[in-house]
Amino acid sequence: MSKAIIQIKGLNKWFGRLHVLREVNLEVAAGEKLVIVGPSGSGKSTLIRCINRLEEFQQGEVVVDGIPLSSAKNLEAVRREVGMVFQQFNLFPHMTVLHNVTLAPCKVRGWSLEKAERKAQELLERVGIADQARKYPAQLSGGQQQRVAIARALAMEPKIMLFDEPTSALDPEMVGEVLDVMRGLAESGMTMLVVTHEMGFARDVADRVIVMDQGQILEQASPEVIFQNPAHERTRVFLQRVL
Ligand code: ADP
Ligand code: MG
Repeated sequence: MSKAIIQIKGLNKWFGRLHVLREVNLEVAAGEKLVIVGPSGSGKSTLIRCINRLEEFQQGEVVVDGIPLSSAKNLEAVRREVGMVFQQFNLFPHMTVLHNVTLAPCKVRGWSLEKAERKAQELLERVGIADQARKYPAQLSGGQQQRVAIARALAMEPKIMLFDEPTSALDPEMVGEVLDVMRGLAESGMTMLVVTHEMGFARDVADRVIVMDQGQILEQASPEVIFQNPAHERTRVFLQRVL
C-alpha cells in the first residue's frame, strides 16, 4: 500500500462540552476514494473539516501529505493541498463564474490573471459550463453552481478533494450532473473524501465506505460489504433509512 496522504491519529474534538469526535483513527492512501455515511449529527462534517482545519481540534494528530496540522504556518500549506465543496455552493455572489474560479489562484498561488483565466476556462469546460463563464452565480441553476464550486476548488490544483453533501441542496434532476463530474474526477485519480447519502455513487466509486455514529467510526469496509453484510446492526438500520 502506498504511504497514506492523510493520517489521522487519536482525534478528539469537543464543541463546548459536547464530545463530537471520539478517538478517530483514519488513514487514506493517495488516490483513494472514501465515502463517509452516518446519521445526522454523527460528526461527518466535523471530521472532514478537521482535515483542512476549518475546525480546530483539542486532541490528536492530523497529517496531510506529510504536513502536520499543528501550526498556523502549516495551515496555509495544507489549505493549498485540500479543496473543499460544500452543500451550499458558497460562491461569491457579486463575482462572475470566471472570477470565482480565478480569485484564489491569483491571490494564494500568485498566478497572473491570464494564466488563471486560461486554467479556469479549461476547468469550466471540464465541468461542462464553459459557456457560463461571464454569468453571475444567481443566473445559474443549482447544479451549475455546484459545478462552478468544483471548478473553483480544482483551480488551486489540490491533491485532495473534500465534499460535504455536495448534492443535498439540489433539485433531484440536477443531482446526476454533479455526480457525473465527481465520477470523472475520481477516474482522474484524485484522492476524494465524500460525505453523501447517494448510495449509487458510493457503490460505483468508493474504495471504502466509512460509517460514522456518535462521533466514532462504527465500521469501514468496501461498499459491497457495507451494503450486503455490515458488521453492525446500527449500520443496517441507517442504510435502510437512506436506501
Ligand atoms: P454531521 O455532519 O454528521 O451531521 P456534524 O459534524 O455537523 O455532524 O455535527 C456533529 C455534532 O456537533 C452535532 O451534535 C452538531 O450539533 C454539533 N456541532 C456541529 N457544529 C457545531 C458548532 N459550530 N457548534 C456547536 N456544536 C456543533
Ligand atoms: Mg454534515
